Amino acid sequence: MLNSIYIEITDACNLNCSFCPCGKEHDGVQNGAPENSCRTRNFMDSELFERCIGEAAKQAQNVYFHILGEPTLHPGFVHYLKALETTPLKLNLTTNGTTIARVGSHLLHSPALRQVNFSTHAFGELESSLAEKYLQGVLDFCQMALAARPDLYINLRLWNAGDFPDAGRQKAWNRFFLEQVQKVFGTGSPDEQSSLPSLEHFCSRHKSFPVKGKLYLHQDSRFEWPTQNSKVNGTEIANENNPAKGTCHALETHVGILHDGRIVACCLDHQGIITLGKIQEKSLEQALKSPLAKNLREGFEKHELRHSLCKSCSFCKRFK
Ligand code: SF4
Ligand code: SF4
Repeated sequence: MLNSIYIEITDACNLNCSFCPCGKEHDGVQNGAPENSCRTRNFMDSELFERCIGEAAKQAQNVYFHILGEPTLHPGFVHYLKALETTPLKLNLTTNGTTIARVGSHLLHSPALRQVNFSTHAFGELESSLAEKYLQGVLDFCQMALAARPDLYINLRLWNAGDFPDAGRQKAWNRFFLEQVQKVFGTGSPDEQSSLPSLEHFCSRHKSFPVKGKLYLHQDSRFEWPTQNSKVNGTEIANENNPAKGTCHALETHVGILHDGRIVACCLDHQGIITLGKIQEKSLEQALKSPLAKNLREGFEKHELRHSLCKSCSFCKRFK
């Protein structure tokens, strides 16, 4: 049994984070993937979604609603949440939080919702008044959730540690963010100050900090999305005699399904580089038993990154 299936219900997003392939301007060649990136705005239809959750329920306990994109922008988001309630699946929602005032009440009333991850690092690139408004909406939701849904896990993500061109701006955002969290949740009193970090010194061994109840601040490093030119490499498997060292939880704990039904081994493979088939044509079980999936899984078990996409991946460095 897998832990999660990542179902990309849309690849559209209303933000344009510098580190994300979502929403980049199409200049002919973007991230080495001219035919895939950029202005595409696709929404999974309800028939395909029903098939995805039917298959997911046979293979996993949880679903996410993204690979790329902001799931709450899907016009059928609330309907899809309701559909999930007819299955044993639970939703771990990752959202940028900009629509929380609109969808928050539906979320709090849904027994299918298990966890919400807010990508609050995304606000650090916005004009300050807009960022503050969005953060206030997220913190308002957290307060309501603590009262109405104390069972709900909430992560306020700040995945912006490390050195990169606008790191200074992100650090300033983190300081403001921390002040607001302390103000709202009272974690700034002298006897409680130790519960939240300064965020200045990132430690990869200590990433999650309790704020209140099941509300956590989650700090991590910024990562690069793995990408390559799919026209050049197709579904190429790297030479097994020349693999890179490393491992990954893909195919052991999760797989993904893109908005058009392509089953992908990886929750970051927004281009469909490691495609195991289409959910319209085969079951998830068949995809997981395919020679390609077996080869990759065996590689991860032996700490070998066999696919060229994995060789270019920095995300998997999080797994030792
Ligand atoms: S909010 Fe998320 S999906 Fe949207 S551009 Fe930023 S990182 Fe990408
Ligand atoms: S190593 Fe990277 S690219 Fe390969 S499956 Fe894992 S996360 Fe995806």
